[in-house]
Amino acid sequence: MTSGVKGSYKVYSCLYCSKEVRWGHSKINKFCDNICQGKYKWENETVPRILQGIGGDYKRYLRDISERLVVINVKNVVRKVCGIINR
Ligand SMILES: [Zn+2]
Repeated sequence: MTSGVKGSYKVYSCLYCSKEVRWGHSKINKFCDNICQGKYKWENETVPRILQGIGGDYKRYLRDISERLVVINVKNVVRKVCGIINR
């Protein structure tokens, strides 16, 4: 994560996409928007909590989820983070 002064205003890097964003008094100054904030929370808080809770047997958990988007997200994140899925 980088931060500093660029030109006449302070900047910070989005924790999720690393985009440089102008620092603001009324903002959290961690993410460029709330979409990135949501994705970051999902990948770094929600998914690890799910994986922890099911002891790595995420497939059994996935079968119980009806929300399709959630399944896709979990698969992508698991593939990226753990490299578990081999197909
Ligand atoms: Zn971002």
